[in-house]
Amino acid sequence: MTTSTKQFDAIIIGTGQAGPPLAARFAGAGKSVAIIERHKFGGTCVNTGCIPTKTLVASAYAIHVANRGAEYGFAAGDIRVDMKRVKARKDAASARSNKGVEEMLRGLKNCTVIEGHARFQSSNTVAVNDEVLQAGKIYINVGGRARIPELPGVQEIPFLTNSSMMDLEVLPGHLVIVGGSYVGLEFAQIYRRLGSEVTVVEMGPRLIGREDEDVSQAVREILEADRVHIRLNAKCISLAKHEGGVAVGITCEEGPPEVVGSHVLLAVGRVPNTGDLGLEQAGVATDHRGYITVDDQLQTNVPGIWALGDCNGRGAFTHTSYNDYEIVADNLFNSDHRRISDRIQAYALYVDPPLGRCGMTDAEVRQSGRHALAVKYPMSRVSRAYEKGETQGFMKICVDAETKQILGAAILGVGGDEVVHVLLDIMYAKAPYTVIQRAMHIHPTVAEYLPTILGKLGPFA
Ligand SMILES: Cc1cc2nc3c(=O)[nH]c(=O)nc-3n(C[C@H](O)[C@H](O)[C@H](O)COP(=O)(O)OP(=O)(O)OC[C@H]3O[C@@H](n4cnc5c(N)ncnc54)[C@H](O)[C@@H]3O)c2cc1C
Repeated sequence: MTTSTKQFDAIIIGTGQAGPPLAARFAGAGKSVAIIERHKFGGTCVNTGCIPTKTLVASAYAIHVANRGAEYGFAAGDIRVDMKRVKARKDAASARSNKGVEEMLRGLKNCTVIEGHARFQSSNTVAVNDEVLQAGKIYINVGGRARIPELPGVQEIPFLTNSSMMDLEVLPGHLVIVGGSYVGLEFAQIYRRLGSEVTVVEMGPRLIGREDEDVSQAVREILEADRVHIRLNAKCISLAKHEGGVAVGITCEEGPPEVVGSHVLLAVGRVPNTGDLGLEQAGVATDHRGYITVDDQLQTNVPGIWALGDCNGRGAFTHTSYNDYEIVADNLFNSDHRRISDRIQAYALYVDPPLGRCGMTDAEVRQSGRHALAVKYPMSRVSRAYEKGETQGFMKICVDAETKQILGAAILGVGGDEVVHVLLDIMYAKAPYTVIQRAMHIHPTVAEYLPTILGKLGPFA
């Protein structure tokens, strides 16, 4: 029952990637702030997203290298995966950040930390547990969760999501992953390298359908080299109990009509946590998928309410959520009128070797109708990659023929997630690519090839 109303300068709902630094900023400015979390401090990235998956990627990579010992000149002996220890390592990494976020918040002067489910009562009040909080400024950072598709049989079978995957202490005999996009592919390679048989079932004609076709194809080859089974064009996916686990009906153009897995992971996108927030009480508008509508500075349609991170549909990454925080905070505290439209698309896919992406895809460049130049260079010709014995992938860069500015790049290969920042920063500087050609890079690195590659720009096909 509601017993009291408490006044704050600001209320923050959710402790994802934007809420905690914003709380620190308010508190540091001497303003009273309440921050509310209903589950685990740190949200998705810390507990069920980036940190645990990249920790698992590291375990999987170590095992992969150990299995290739003979190529590097050593014998690792009998390599056995102890899934409990792999999980313990992952849990420790998540716990470190989860604890760090909670301790940081609880240590802030002027900040009240409340554990419970927050729900709007009006445009300036939020109910949580038995309290009502009131503030002139309310920031929503509630994130999202795995989408559960309405596939036939989905209610009858036990399925996993990125969240419940975190509790697995056994290695699945055969993990079937429904969804061949970023989340699904990372889990596919992780579990294959840990020792599971893995099948990826994708409805579309290729993996990571938002990327260019050559990128999709190269990522497919990377996964197939690890002996991940890929089933594309799975138009009629269905799920049913089976004595061996779960039967996933596929109806692909080729291959058997169903595959039986011991475990099934659903990785078919995300939905925002906005349905149980009482947004209608506050009058906050959402789009048809439930994402909160915001303007270029993260303000909702209701003055005094902002939405940051995955719940606004303007980004789906830790760095986009943190960037949302920076935009809001700089507008509020520094009179620096930063905007979402200032940022350049950038992200990575953490298969090994990773894909680092920035700016436009080739398809987007084509659609824009610009006069462009392009270059593509195989990793097999990069000495750093060759020395490391990791020559899969390629680098490709597209530039505007008139302004000489970089339009987009895909660096799929060893270090690709880091190398792409050389290009990204030049893009932010709005400098021509020729600046990179005059820079002296360190040998031997992957990045040292960028000046050379840019010297080979040719017509954009
Ligand atoms: C498997 C996986 C791997 C990923 N890997 C990467 C990666 O490598 N790099 C990357 O950049 N991104 C990655 N992401 C995406 C990244 O995790 C998210 O974009 C990031 O966490 C941003 O989240 P957020 O700040 O919007 O909120 P979240 O981190 O989702 O946090 C929202 C918080 O709000 C709380 N909450 C929700 N509703 C309420 C309520 N009503 N009351 C109180 N509290 C509430 C939730 O409990 C949660 O703690 C990955 C995601 C997944 C699923």
